[in-house]
Amino acid sequence: MADKDFFKEPSAKEIRDLGLRGFSSNLVRNVERLYEDQGGVIELRLIPEGFDSGSKWMKHGEEVKLRRFRTLDDIAHVNPIELRREAFSKVGKRIWNQYSIRPVVGDRKTRRVSLVECIEGAKIFSYVHQTPQIGGNPSIDVETYADVERFAKGVAREGGEVIVTVPSRTEKESRYKFGFKAVPIVDNDAKWEIAYSLSSDHVCEHKRYQQIRFTGPDDQERSDVNDFCAHEIAGYFATIAYFMERGNMVPSDMNQFAIITQDGVDFYDRLGFNLLIKTPEDKRPRKLTVPEKVVMMGGYNRKRGHDKGFSGDLEEVKNYRWRSTE
Ligand SMILES: [Zn+2]
Repeated sequence: MADKDFFKEPSAKEIRDLGLRGFSSNLVRNVERLYEDQGGVIELRLIPEGFDSGSKWMKHGEEVKLRRFRTLDDIAHVNPIELRREAFSKVGKRIWNQYSIRPVVGDRKTRRVSLVECIEGAKIFSYVHQTPQIGGNPSIDVETYADVERFAKGVAREGGEVIVTVPSRTEKESRYKFGFKAVPIVDNDAKWEIAYSLSSDHVCEHKRYQQIRFTGPDDQERSDVNDFCAHEIAGYFATIAYFMERGNMVPSDMNQFAIITQDGVDFYDRLGFNLLIKTPEDKRPRKLTVPEKVVMMGGYNRKRGHDKGFSGDLEEVKNYRWRSTE
């Protein structure tokens, strides 16, 4: 297996060749029932009405807002996973594209996170731990300064700076090197506020695309948002692991990114390996787009609950089973 085959999915034709069972309701249950050698096709539009493309919906559709805090005194002293659990349990039947957080101080920009980017970030994290050396040993490198947490007052107040280098998922692209700011590192009261200010200077095709201004008459630029991508999430996961190895749990406790479980991976993999979609606009069944996978993971989350799919443990992510085209 070539190195980055880890990220390859079968083509629409290969899935068609499995034989297709069509369905247009009970989507989550029908997907869960697909065996590895069975194909399914969703005969339904998944992107909500009113959006002519999945990418527009990702930008302008409804997001799940985690509890907002107005002042430093307001901030609840609970770990971000509790706020995700709380917010996810309240969404009801709404179809949402990402969950979001907003800092109380600093740039005040809304940070948005899609479940699919969280899963893809976990997959990169698994990849560097599972792929044997084939012309190079993939890794996520984390650079910080020893002892910084003990004496730097700035780090205690505003979080630390961490530089990470993350592999890409395609043969063509090289590695991405970027810096995080506002990484909560010190175990103090300020960590609760720092956790909402995390940012990075990373740029990739995904991020660039999310920031393009649409020129349609109804479009407004969302310059007030920043969407985290899989590279940033993988980089943050590696940062958690780096500090954990040194006995510091703060980056883990303050983690803003949902960690997929093995059950969640098994569901997600079916979307790429067993499933096609045929909307009224499609001539023939095709692969799901990323926004359509986002809709399905939201449905899975609603149907099975936050903890079934998104209470994973990074130590276990290292050894997760991901389907491959082998
Ligand atoms: Zn990226």
